[in-house]
Amino acid sequence: MPLSAPRPRHVPERTCVACRRKRPQDELVRVTRTPAGWRVLPGQRTGRGAYLCADLPECWQEKRLRRAFRGDAPAISAELRTLNLSNPSMDQPMTT
Ligand SMILES: [Zn+2]
Repeated sequence: MPLSAPRPRHVPERTCVACRRKRPQDELVRVTRTPAGWRVLPGQRTGRGAYLCADLPECWQEKRLRRAFRGDAPAISAELRTLNLSNPSMDQPMTT
């Protein structure tokens, strides 16, 4: 029986609506269209979704979000900054 390398898991690609780059889905953060408007809801899988780079603050700028999210752009921009996705370690207080 031949040694089989673990088959690379297929990662679906999505396009960032700010920079239009195609990236693996797990490098993007999902924004979901809710009845109340667009919201940043990581893990949400239902409804209409849009994707933004999780690690590029330049993709969170309100002016870049406005084309996709219109009036919700300022709220989305603020939520992305609150999530602090690019610097997770900065959330952790040093406990030494
Ligand atoms: Zn992007």
